[in-house]
Amino acid sequence: MTAAAETPTGSGARPDRTDAPTLGESSLAVHGGIELDSTRALRTPLVMSNSFALPDDPSEISWSATAPNLYTRNTGVNQLALECKLAALDHGEDAVALASGVAALHAVFFTHVRAGDHVVVSDVVYEATWRLWTELLPGRYGIEATFVDVTDPDAVRSAIRPETRLVCVEAIANPTTKVADIALLAEIAHAAGAILMVDSTFTPPPFYRPLADGADLVVHSLTKYINGHGDAMGGAVIGRSELIAPIKADAMVDVGGVISPFNAWMIQRGSVTLPLRLRQHFASAQRVAEMLEADPRVAFVAYPGLDSHPQRETARRQFGDAAGGMMAFALDGGPELQNRFVANLRLITSGFSLGHDDSLIVHTAADGPRTAAYPDEFRRFGHLRLSVGLEDADDLVADLTAALDALSA
Ligand SMILES: *Cc1c(COP(=O)(O)O)cnc(C)c1O
Repeated sequence: MTAAAETPTGSGARPDRTDAPTLGESSLAVHGGIELDSTRALRTPLVMSNSFALPDDPSEISWSATAPNLYTRNTGVNQLALECKLAALDHGEDAVALASGVAALHAVFFTHVRAGDHVVVSDVVYEATWRLWTELLPGRYGIEATFVDVTDPDAVRSAIRPETRLVCVEAIANPTTKVADIALLAEIAHAAGAILMVDSTFTPPPFYRPLADGADLVVHSLTKYINGHGDAMGGAVIGRSELIAPIKADAMVDVGGVISPFNAWMIQRGSVTLPLRLRQHFASAQRVAEMLEADPRVAFVAYPGLDSHPQRETARRQFGDAAGGMMAFALDGGPELQNRFVANLRLITSGFSLGHDDSLIVHTAADGPRTAAYPDEFRRFGHLRLSVGLEDADDLVADLTAALDALSA
């Protein structure tokens, strides 16, 4: 893996164990991308320096180089260590870590799409992706975007133009949980000479690896599951070196949305327990989704692990038995009822983020152009997006049940 080979301070004293083909997922999360540095510390030291000592003659060094140990905007020690881990986890060649998930999304768009290009975007995407492709990039750079239902291959094929450069989807969409068939979309994109970018924030490794299904670039909000503890922000792009290197050279060094050493260190630490945490998130989510769907006071539940989910079969084929830790649902009533229900919860917290150890819920009304392509039930009731945390499933079920019961009390 390229990123590991470039580890600045690597002594090579410890073998790279991540190439072992027999390494299990948890072993990979513990050992992947880790190399000892010159201090021989078993944990990557936190290097809070924005500048590094230059050689005696620095006159020929490019200020735009992405080489490490020059200046932290050109690549920092902790950023590089995190990138090695992320490339190992996603089975990618190289990775770039940035300040947030949105910085990572923007870095892909800024680097790989130019004025005059066209992009095809899923009609259900994260708010910032939506705004970037409806307003910001078309308005500033004249790049046209077509929004399509990515579960309809014919619609995707007919949205493609000769100048289509990028297809942009979420493996499980935020918030409707629409599941994209990544192998099929990769085939369609590649036949048209375009690249496929998959925002895999809801589907981190080892749960899913879009690169293995033909995606060219994977984006993660590290803020979510990969850090997992709700205490740092970051984003990453993973893929072939030929696609990652220009992101580092253009978006990282000269736009500057670099990750802080401290956040990179925190996220590297959090990522070690990712496979273990995902098992618990997913098992509890399946249980919670089934419990909510069985309750007559609940109008609908959108979760790819339920037989009622429109892409249940795609989810099963693509992800196997697990279906993620995210769901959306609503009670049979108006916005005031949804708010009262959330206020009744004692364990589950009302908050925007997701993928944390604590369960988070957020009530969103459905209106405006962004939600036009949401399923009818989302538009009728609004929705509560629930990120199932690491609490005991029994406690989560009890909290939800008590909050429902309190509505009629
Ligand atoms: C949160 C999120 C992002 C943005 O990540 P930040 O770290 O908040 O910038 C992008 N995509 C998806 C699917 C997300 O859930």
